[in-house]
Amino acid sequence: MRLCFEHVLTDAGWRERVAIDVDEAGFVTAIAPTEGACAPGFVVPGLPNLHSHAFQRALAGRTEHVAPGREDSFWTWRTQMYALALACTPDDLEAIAAQLYVEMLEAGMTAVGEFHYLHHAPDGPYDARDEMSARIFAAAEATGIALTHLPVLYMTGGFDAPAEAHQRRFVHADVDAFLALVDDSKRHLTPTSRIGVAPHSLRAVPGDALARVIADSEGPVHIHIAEQTKEVDDCIEHLGHRPVEWLLANAEVSSRFCLVHATHVTDGEVKQMAESGAIAGLCPTTEANLGDGLFPAARFLGDGGAFGVGSDSHVTVSASEELRLLEYGQRLITQHRNRLAGASGHVGEALWTRAAAGGAKALAQPAGAIAVGRRADLVRLDANHPRLVGHGPETALDAWIFGSTDAPVQDVWVAGRRRVEGGRHAQRDVIAARFGDVVRRLFA
Ligand SMILES: [Zn+2]
Repeated sequence: MRLCFEHVLTDAGWRERVAIDVDEAGFVTAIAPTEGACAPGFVVPGLPNLHSHAFQRALAGRTEHVAPGREDSFWTWRTQMYALALACTPDDLEAIAAQLYVEMLEAGMTAVGEFHYLHHAPDGPYDARDEMSARIFAAAEATGIALTHLPVLYMTGGFDAPAEAHQRRFVHADVDAFLALVDDSKRHLTPTSRIGVAPHSLRAVPGDALARVIADSEGPVHIHIAEQTKEVDDCIEHLGHRPVEWLLANAEVSSRFCLVHATHVTDGEVKQMAESGAIAGLCPTTEANLGDGLFPAARFLGDGGAFGVGSDSHVTVSASEELRLLEYGQRLITQHRNRLAGASGHVGEALWTRAAAGGAKALAQPAGAIAVGRRADLVRLDANHPRLVGHGPETALDAWIFGSTDAPVQDVWVAGRRRVEGGRHAQRDVIAARFGDVVRRLFA
């Protein structure tokens, strides 16, 4: 298959009027100049969404109110989130995930890292222990998004504290049962899916179990690390060190790792984390929504660190909003502009290319850039959209990320297959109708 475009952001920068050859498996085999007809617009690599809890999409907009006598925080939000987690059936999870993945694809996100902890039925494991994992794979398959499935190991309710009753759908009492679930989940693998592991956090996984999971698994390792100051304080109290500090000292942290919400870190931790090759998993809209705090991204990039973004709780699902808020957070704390500009000098392009490359690495997906040998995960932006019209390639991503929502996304390909055409996913209406039925019932 050959796709011809007027403007393409390749790993070697913008190129004009090029033909991209894609093989049967969906990989790019050649990128060459062409005299033939070219589709207009700006083509950029698809953005991986590296951190997702799919079921939480159904909660968006339902936690933005106060209750008398309650000081709202991450922890009160979590109580509301647990109520939804307890109510979700396998059918519900599949319907919510499918809706979410359509929204991601329409936003220009071509891969998702599903940090999946809703494993069991309310009264214990399902007959097939990977029942809920199967539903995540099914939603990915139905929509065409590339999936990196990250089953979560969750053992304790806090440092040295047993799991609580409302966490019963997440918990594994022993590592063997968890590794068996990871193994069983492999039967759902497809050419565009991968499996890794996700020890939930240092508060939910004791050190010996963490070491075993890292040693006895393959693929990416994702962990929630320092989202909340309470988490940092508890870690110091029980382990004698800050969470990132402890992990770097007690595990062989490498580019296999994605440290999600490394929000509360010292300058020394930032430097060591960058040197380790671990990807910083940043979730700007969720971290803002939950009042988590701001990761020192400018310092981390200055130290040579790599990052990707995720929409996490999915309070919104927008590629441009995640990247815009990431930059704006840095501007607000430093009182300077253009904090995350790369070599191109254009913040939008630097954010997009870095998050695409870092996200693909964190998900072990062979994408993240438009280059020979990489998978053809592509996003075409409409050059005639009012927010992009008159822009050349050098400012197209600045115009999108800082000036617009996801409206300019016109077409999206995953592994060379077009999943979004004219801004719409082919299954949008059917999937939205099923999602509507589910949320009306869950919140009746
Ligand atoms: Zn998370």
